[in-house]
Amino acid sequence: MKRILFASSETHPLIKTGGLADVAGSLPIALTGLGQDVRVIMPNYHDIKNCEPGRYLCTVRVNNCDVNLLETRLPESDVTVWLVDYPPFFGQPGNPYNDENGNPWPDIGDRFALFCRIVVEVAMNRAYLDWKPDVVHCNDWQTGLVPALLSLEDNRPSTVFTIHNMAYQGVFPSSTYTLLNLPGQLWHQDGLEYHGMLSFIKGGLSYSDRITTVSPTYAQEIQTPEFGYGLEGLLGHRQHELSGIINGIDLQVWNPETDQKIAQTYNSKTVAKKALNKTALQARLGLPVSAEIPMFGLIGRLVDQKGVDLVLSCLKEMARMPLQFALLGSGDTSIQVRLQDFARLYPEKISITIGYDENLAHQIEAGADMFLMPSRFEPCGLNQMYSQRYGTLPIVRKTGGLADTVVDALPQTLADGSATGFVFNDAVPGALMETIKRGLVLHANKQLWQKLQRNAMSKDFSWENSANQYLTLYHEI
Ligand code: ADP
Repeated sequence: MKRILFASSETHPLIKTGGLADVAGSLPIALTGLGQDVRVIMPNYHDIKNCEPGRYLCTVRVNNCDVNLLETRLPESDVTVWLVDYPPFFGQPGNPYNDENGNPWPDIGDRFALFCRIVVEVAMNRAYLDWKPDVVHCNDWQTGLVPALLSLEDNRPSTVFTIHNMAYQGVFPSSTYTLLNLPGQLWHQDGLEYHGMLSFIKGGLSYSDRITTVSPTYAQEIQTPEFGYGLEGLLGHRQHELSGIINGIDLQVWNPETDQKIAQTYNSKTVAKKALNKTALQARLGLPVSAEIPMFGLIGRLVDQKGVDLVLSCLKEMARMPLQFALLGSGDTSIQVRLQDFARLYPEKISITIGYDENLAHQIEAGADMFLMPSRFEPCGLNQMYSQRYGTLPIVRKTGGLADTVVDALPQTLADGSATGFVFNDAVPGALMETIKRGLVLHANKQLWQKLQRNAMSKDFSWENSANQYLTLYHEI
């Protein structure tokens, strides 16, 4: 059994801004299920909800601050969560990174430096919690100083650093280094310095024993200038300690057999009943009701990363074909406006819903035949996994987690039963359009389509699968 301290700036359902929270709320539970002793540690934000109030454990003094440690639990689990309580930093309303008005916390560097110091004290058992981890699992830049500071300790636990998004690095002016009172030995090119500035993420990338990211393909991609944001050299240098492990999905929330949010439940044997979800969706969205017409879905943030511009370039041609398209999302105003223009032009073909709506997200996953996800980059991606579980075949660009989780329907993969969707290479509208047409051809063959649906629905996207891979990694170090 391993003792694992899991450090994260956000944890679902206590507080969430993105996919990191899902991992922090699921992986520790899955690891506990595999017999491991896991403790989550995170700041005690003002806006934390969905857990019992923290019970006072002790006070730890770091960098002239008296910080309390509180204990609570992840809901419906036995997983202990230690809350780092320091009201001057975490006591105001807002999310982990921004205030109530969406402005970044001006002292965000101080906040997470303090958090990192406390993680180190707990990891070295200097908080006297009578528990010393074998592994400290750190996540994203907010925990980057932990492996760096631990590297200065004797008898330290092993460290894993997981990158959920390379785009955020925690870079601050060099003066912050002095203000944070960080040890001089860590300030050099192979340490925390990044072009004369302080980089939190470099602490994780340079000093952790192992680096992971949330898919094997993204682990390769971040070693290139296009995806490495200036750190591709360092990542390339550490390629032998760098690997990718795909996130799991919540199989209870995303289960077509029990989903209360959809009109008709179904499983891989009764997948023909899925058509009732299409007609219910059409009725809800005001599209002409037809079980036969192929329906494409898309759910997500409407930002450059997601390749929605490629879809926009295809919409005119799509609207001339016998198909329907249902999109749910929000994001860039210009993308929203252009999408809504198409919906007005082709109300019988295209439905655009701007907003965040979990019920509709489930209904699109259940009602559509195919799901578009032409992302320019995608560290892991969840919707392509939900889609496969719902027998809604994803059309994805070959990048990051999309490349790792969707098997393109080619003669070979159709023959061996591994095909689960459609994959294209180039981020150009022509490639997407061609792939949509490829999907339509196969969709017309009912028997073959059902076979593809069953392939997709039988794939294992469980957290247990991911947790086993993390466990192997912990054992290796
Ligand atoms: P990312 O984390 O980059 O936004 P993912 O595919 O990994 O993309 O996860 C996005 C999650 O948020 C999915 O669960 C998706 O269904 C959900 N989601 C995104 N936009 C919306 C929306 N407008 N309404 C409902 N759910 C949404």
